[in-house]
Amino acid sequence: MAVLTDYHFHTEISLDSAAPYYDMVMAEYNAGVRRACVTDHCDVMDWKTLGFNPQCRTVARQELEAYEKYRPLLPADLQLRMGMELAEMIFHPELAEELSSPPWLDFILGSYHLTKEYGDYHDIDYSDPAVRRGLCDIYLRDIQQVAELNYFDVMAHIGYFRRYAMRAGADMGLTLAQHGDRIEHLLRTLIQNGRGVELNCSGLRDGCGPFPSEEILKLYKSLGGEIVTVGSDAHRPQDAARCVDQGQEVLRACGFRYIAVFTKRKPEFIPI
Ligand SMILES: [Zn+2]
Ligand SMILES: [Zn+2]
Repeated sequence: MAVLTDYHFHTEISLDSAAPYYDMVMAEYNAGVRRACVTDHCDVMDWKTLGFNPQCRTVARQELEAYEKYRPLLPADLQLRMGMELAEMIFHPELAEELSSPPWLDFILGSYHLTKEYGDYHDIDYSDPAVRRGLCDIYLRDIQQVAELNYFDVMAHIGYFRRYAMRAGADMGLTLAQHGDRIEHLLRTLIQNGRGVELNCSGLRDGCGPFPSEEILKLYKSLGGEIVTVGSDAHRPQDAARCVDQGQEVLRACGFRYIAVFTKRKPEFIPI
């Protein structure tokens, strides 16, 4: 079996995780992961108040301090990297360069969870047909802006809001049949800028399927996309690395033969 990698998980440095750094990384190791990258939230906006989140300025420094403190205590055969999930950049694009510039960072997920229109995707009323009708357009408009900002390595969890829609009984994934042109434009932008796509496995845990969907992954591959990372998006030790092995299988089935890991923002390719 290929080396297990997890390039998306959180620790208590993230405002929505209580997992101690050491416990979380050890849970990854004990689940079999040997190439891991901590990606705590660096949220430019506060998900609840929808105002600026000043904590975003401290995340990269906290990441470095935790790494330096715990790296000596961790197993030698674990390759651990420092990253972050840089989110909501489109609200303060002038900060994106600064937040993404600390030279010790190995990897940055480009992420997006908040609409200007409705707030957090988690809190949207998916039962309202008028909201549902426009939501994919808003989502694609905004992640296209993220892609063009370009201050990241890999775009996180494309289409992840399907989870919240499904919980509300509405299935509204991003499909090529409905949004193919804009999805292709997004993927071409990422490829031209040398950016990759994350396969986020959190949807494999709860029956929503991978984010992005297989058809989007196949399109990315057919357009020449090669950089794909795999992430569990775990926020608790009991979810560490969950379904990353299944994520590798999904990628193989979509035609990928390599997954990416990063050191100082440069990809390296591991056969799967
Ligand atoms: Zn996220
Ligand atoms: Zn995350």
